[in-house]
Amino acid sequence: MRGFYFDPTYILIIIGAVICIAAQTYLKSVYSRYRKVRSAAGLTGEQVALRVLRSAGVGDVQVVKVSGDLTDHYDPGTKRVCLSESIFGSSSLAAAGVAAHECGHAVQHARNYAPLTIRSAIVPAVNFGSTLSWPVFIAGLIFSLRPLAAAGIVLFSLAVVFQLVTLPVEFNASHRALQMLEGTGILSPEENRGARTVLTAAALTYVAALTSSILQLLRMIMIVNGGRRRDD
Ligand SMILES: [Zn+2]
Repeated sequence: MRGFYFDPTYILIIIGAVICIAAQTYLKSVYSRYRKVRSAAGLTGEQVALRVLRSAGVGDVQVVKVSGDLTDHYDPGTKRVCLSESIFGSSSLAAAGVAAHECGHAVQHARNYAPLTIRSAIVPAVNFGSTLSWPVFIAGLIFSLRPLAAAGIVLFSLAVVFQLVTLPVEFNASHRALQMLEGTGILSPEENRGARTVLTAAALTYVAALTSSILQLLRMIMIVNGGRRRDD
């Protein structure tokens, strides 16, 4: 048990953190580039969202402004597309891309897109798992109870499953967004390439988060197996 906090498997956590920081840095640089490029049509994020929703035939979703930066999301509970201040009123390519992406989630919701339904359904189990996984895992290590440590790993893997299901949800929302932006003529094909770059960078942060979680899961498994070898 000694040296647990300084064990060599900690390198996996560092690798995961570096991947996440790299993805976030790339997103920030892409975002700051395309938030300066105005679209020719000049529609604000709010106007883009309203037009995209109307073109998709989704009439019962509101578009509202929320505080903060990069806080944009779709809330299925209240059926609201929530856009951050800088997206709501901006007519940049980044704003059009982000606004249309959140509407992509609203369209998924309206069409009962399966991965979104699955993701919503497993949220309670995932929250339960995330809260208990490390306490259970560490208790398993402290008391040398491998079944308890294994239970901690299973609880943690719920979060990994959630992040895995998040990928198709995010990629599909961006795919819908770009189709709607071009289909409605809000962006030209060339402008759409800019919006695509922003949305791809955003999607990469989800891939990075998943990778980091898988590395963490791997680390937990290695710690338990390492402990077993030492005990034998
Ligand atoms: Zn999204």
